Amino acid sequence: MTRLEMELIITLDTALHTTGNLRRPGVDKAMARTAQGDPVLPATTLKGFLREKAEILLRAWGHPVCLGPEPDRMCKGPEPCRICRVFGNPRHPSPLRFSDATLIHADEDLSVRAGVAISRHRRAAFPQRLFFMETIPSIPERPIRGQAWCEGDFFDPTTAREAAALIALAARWGIAIGGGKTRGLGWIREIKVNAHIDGEPLPESALVEIWRAWREGTHVA
Ligand SMILES: [Zn+2]
Repeated sequence: MTRLEMELIITLDTALHTTGNLRRPGVDKAMARTAQGDPVLPATTLKGFLREKAEILLRAWGHPVCLGPEPDRMCKGPEPCRICRVFGNPRHPSPLRFSDATLIHADEDLSVRAGVAISRHRRAAFPQRLFFMETIPSIPERPIRGQAWCEGDFFDPTTAREAAALIALAARWGIAIGGGKTRGLGWIREIKVNAHIDGEPLPESALVEIWRAWREGTHVA
């Protein structure tokens, strides 16, 4: 078996909201938090974000990959697609385990933002749809930073390298993460991926080589 370990360092340009399960007074959508009460970017949010971006990119390059996240739209055959081989589906568990991202932010206090649900058809704001959402504020000079881990065991070094390349490719997609994306929250400045295979750092050049092969369709799954 080949062990793949990846450190994901996330930098955000805007405030972040990821809805948690806890209820807080005066807030309709409370932040997801650890047991200790620290705000987090949950592993499921991070994994779902990376899966969605990987699907879009591989499909754009003509790779036959299935459409998540609904389980019945994911591939069902004995040979899972390149996305399911890395991110898993109900029949093929993912070899990778993601951690929650712990968040480092300059301001200790979370801020509460008001939002109004807007009808896309009528372009009108309804007063009864006003809600309050807890966010981590972001200061341009000291952006929110998060650190997560992703690791797993693969059949051989090739499949481990391909999994690292897929995660790193999706991480290059600069777009919003978490809740309130259309309200300008959670804009990613950068997700840096530091990958190690069996303890050895995986160089950027190895990733670029795999991306080039995928783009040219020579490694179509
Ligand atoms: Zn699939």
